[in-house]
Amino acid sequence: PNSCFYAGLDLGTSGCRLIAIDGNQAVRAGARVVYPADAEQFPALWWDAVQQVMAETPETIRANLQGIAVDGTSGTILLADADGNPTTAALLYNDARALEQSRRIATIAPRESGAHGATSSLAKLLWLLEHYPDQPHAYALHQADWVAGKLAGQFGFSDENNCLKLGYDPVKREWPAWMKNLVPAHLLPMVYAPGQRVGESIIHAGTTDSIAAFIATGASELGDAVTSLGSTIALKIISDKPIFAPEFGIYSHRLGNKWLAGGASNSGGAVLLQHFSRDDLQRLTPQLQPDKPTGLDYYPLSKPGERFPHADPQWLPRLSPRPADDVQFLQALLEGMSRIEHAGWQRLHELGAPYPRTLRTVGGGSRNPAWMQMRETLIGAPFLPSTHDEAAFGAALLARGA
Ligand code: ADP
Repeated sequence: PNSCFYAGLDLGTSGCRLIAIDGNQAVRAGARVVYPADAEQFPALWWDAVQQVMAETPETIRANLQGIAVDGTSGTILLADADGNPTTAALLYNDARALEQSRRIATIAPRESGAHGATSSLAKLLWLLEHYPDQPHAYALHQADWVAGKLAGQFGFSDENNCLKLGYDPVKREWPAWMKNLVPAHLLPMVYAPGQRVGESIIHAGTTDSIAAFIATGASELGDAVTSLGSTIALKIISDKPIFAPEFGIYSHRLGNKWLAGGASNSGGAVLLQHFSRDDLQRLTPQLQPDKPTGLDYYPLSKPGERFPHADPQWLPRLSPRPADDVQFLQALLEGMSRIEHAGWQRLHELGAPYPRTLRTVGGGSRNPAWMQMRETLIGAPFLPSTHDEAAFGAALLARGA
């Protein structure tokens, strides 16, 4: 087992990362390629990056890989021919041009489907079919599917997590009947459980980048929760039943024999950066007094509109009165965001998820000890360190098998 290795490949928003682990989950190799700052992302760029991180992995490990799994940005999709050659451009995770197509989907798809919205992979697939009508399309493939297919030398498979936004029904574990009139059935990939071995190859079905990052933290039991304090505040928790509450933007992914449910608030680090530089945040944080609340009742947002934990497109930011003292102002912002997170965990619990049993924190905000203390007091669940903070490690765990 010490000469058996498992590789996770993470195709993220800014580059490609490989982490290889051994049978004891110890990291044995790693490599990274960052895309040029203004590079347009396209499949050949991804593949070059994958080949480069593979080449940087020691031969002793590369030759003894027992499994490889790939995660990619969620909703990134392209069409390819029978040999996997792209027949269209790739539409990236945040591309919202498929607005008209999403309106059509809205009239057919059930409310709880993951295929809603202009950035869904289904909306993009319809757009691609309309704009590349005369190509020999054989497969619709997400970014992770296409890269895994290149590695496997065979295409046409995907995983239950990437396929949620393509319309796949994770509860019934099938492509739903309502999709039949929208998309030629032969384009839809064969869907595996994340971590499941694909045929006889060493490739295991992957997942999305955010789910791989969740897995990487070590969260794995019922009630294990992870908060991502990045530009937004994103909550995810392992639940024994799936939760679908589209008004709150809540969907559930199958993960092993449990479910991963989550929601995201528009509040978060992006609002902090409107008022403070990163240096200010560093400088002011030691002066915060988490045990002396300001008494201000902020709801920090950059603009009106909130989805979770309150579903209201007109929800107003509350950022006044502004104290003269910057430290007090920063503290009030962090208190407001801590309350939003707490309300998020309560909302998920109300909808059927467990209340957090343990909580891990990832993202830029996790480096703020005062904020961590405010949150831990308010939420009342034990805070745990993450095993790892990179999605590629989560993908490597999937490569060991489901
Ligand atoms: P993303 O990839 O979602 O943009 P990151 O996980 O890199 O975000 O986190 C960046 C966020 O972390 C920024 O929006 C910033 O507000 C926040 N951040 C950075 N430093 C601190 C700090 N010392 N205290 C609180 N928040 C911070």
